[in-house]
Amino acid sequence: MKVLKTPQEWAKVRIEILAGGQSIGFVPTMGALHVGHMELVKASLKKCDFTIVSIFVNPTQFNNPKDFETYPKTLENDLKLLKESGVHAVFAPSTKTMYPTESEMALSFGSLENVLEGKYRPGHFSGVGLVVSKLFNLVKPQTAFFGQKDLQQIAVIKRLVADLSFQIQIEVVPTKREADGLAYSSRNVRLSDAERKTALILFDSLSKAKKELLDGQEWFAVRQNIEKDFQSSADTKLEYFDLVHPESFKLYSSFDSSQKSSICVAANVGDVRLIDNLPVID
Ligand code: AMP
Repeated sequence: MKVLKTPQEWAKVRIEILAGGQSIGFVPTMGALHVGHMELVKASLKKCDFTIVSIFVNPTQFNNPKDFETYPKTLENDLKLLKESGVHAVFAPSTKTMYPTESEMALSFGSLENVLEGKYRPGHFSGVGLVVSKLFNLVKPQTAFFGQKDLQQIAVIKRLVADLSFQIQIEVVPTKREADGLAYSSRNVRLSDAERKTALILFDSLSKAKKELLDGQEWFAVRQNIEKDFQSSADTKLEYFDLVHPESFKLYSSFDSSQKSSICVAANVGDVRLIDNLPVID
């Protein structure tokens, strides 16, 4: 497995790959790799001849400096995992390489900015859009893989690809969960044992709400009950629990089984912010 630190190193390798007629699959990550990331890797290895994974904790997408500082970094272990899984190359640039000068560019994703992650993490999607554009321009893959775990991010990336005419196919990989339902996340390692148990409230509340909706209950009442569950759970703070169209992110005020819908949640468990989502109607 090749570990590349600069775009120039990758450019040389890329020429050889293309000369050999191989297709390139790309998995962008912020490292601290877990089983969820490895699902994206597996999907790329299956679809593409050559898989490159990037590891870069992107400062411009963190609206909270403390979250950036405490973001787990486990490069050595990440490289070991990727090598064992058969990944061909890793792009692990420094911040200076990605941002030689401080970027003042901002990207706006219209209505996606006004709800859920866009609303609660101002500037987050601008940073995501910026770093993904840079990575797409540098890596130039045919296909890039993203997790359904970050559902709104997928909508942002699809907008980016359409609006900036990236010739890159986007593949979406379903959320990988632990046996009890908690979605794998790099932030889970920051949970204490007690918080790890408490964190299950995210998946439990999504599952409960989905069942109640499909049983015919009103969204308004379903959400109210979930809010009560969070209020009575010590150490959790609910940020949002919303029913949305999974592509436009239009907020629904009521459930309609003839329309696509997903429930999205964000909550703090202790001081760890977690997000999750569940499709209700695919
Ligand atoms: P991150 O390192 O958190 O930026 O995540 C990198 C990619 O992995 C993103 O496309 C995420 O959506 C995806 N991802 C993170 N957690 C999971 C999971 N539990 N299942 C599937 N994909 C995931």
